[in-house]
Amino acid sequence: MPQYFVRVMNIWKDFGKTPLARPPRPRYTHAMRLTFTDSRLDHAGLQRGKPDWMAQQHAHPQGRAVLFAGGSLALDEDGGPLVLPAGIASGLALKWPGLIFIGLQDGAPWFAGALEPGVAARGPDFRLSAMRLPPDLACAFGRARSIMMWSGRRRFCSNCGTPNEAFDGGLRLTCPSCGMEHYPRTDPSIILLPYSGDRCVLGRQPGWPPGMYATLAGFVEPGETLEAACARETAEEVHLKVLGTQYIANQPWPFPSSLMIGFLAEVEPGEVQADDDLEDARWFTRDEVIDLYDGAMAGWAPKHFSISRLLIERWLGRDSGATV
Ligand SMILES: [Zn+2]
Repeated sequence: MPQYFVRVMNIWKDFGKTPLARPPRPRYTHAMRLTFTDSRLDHAGLQRGKPDWMAQQHAHPQGRAVLFAGGSLALDEDGGPLVLPAGIASGLALKWPGLIFIGLQDGAPWFAGALEPGVAARGPDFRLSAMRLPPDLACAFGRARSIMMWSGRRRFCSNCGTPNEAFDGGLRLTCPSCGMEHYPRTDPSIILLPYSGDRCVLGRQPGWPPGMYATLAGFVEPGETLEAACARETAEEVHLKVLGTQYIANQPWPFPSSLMIGFLAEVEPGEVQADDDLEDARWFTRDEVIDLYDGAMAGWAPKHFSISRLLIERWLGRDSGATV
């Protein structure tokens, strides 16, 4: 069995039993330390458009493929993520367009594929899986998931309806009829913590676990700056006026393909009125935020998992850039 296969399995063997302990790491910026931000993948943008080069990657002896079932990682017989040599994975029943190239890591090509139903067991929600993956695999699998969710919805040309054809390892789709090219997309979203003095505003959406409150977020609309998006979302969601914004960090968020761009937003003090999208929103004092995140919400997710928590820790003054 190839060494890398054993490595991945070992990482996974305690899945669900123990929280992932992050190994000691060099001092990065805060953004670099968030889940999904420590990618070691070389996307090989200059080479992947060459058919001969891509054929070599498919035949590479160290090539590997991570397999998905639905939007979750597929599982092997031991309950670990199904990571196979690419040559074996390519022979399984895969959804169109088959194996997709996601990059090189340590010189070895990585691929991803979506299995047809019934080929392998489906793992837990990908959020739960990603919380327990080491940083490089969380990045690689997150990128794979975003790309597969994209191609899974682009079987047919959005311009004329003709079946698309895949090129560049599956990272470029071309319509043979009208010639339109389709590329994986990333949707920019702002995420922000509104605050005034020593109070901040947190909200909760319907369906969240009882007691959970978090930052506000929304997609950036066409023709809008990031700052304008922060002001609009704050006005729409909690009816407060933004006085100024401070950019903090950003995080790829593969659910399915967002880029979360995080801000602290100073707002005018006033009455919070939660929009219909929110079940509740209100002011929290500093002590209330600490009680919530160190108390009822402690252990729900690792601190480094989402930029929402980073924004809160930054506002609390507990994020030095090396502790989150
Ligand atoms: Zn077309």
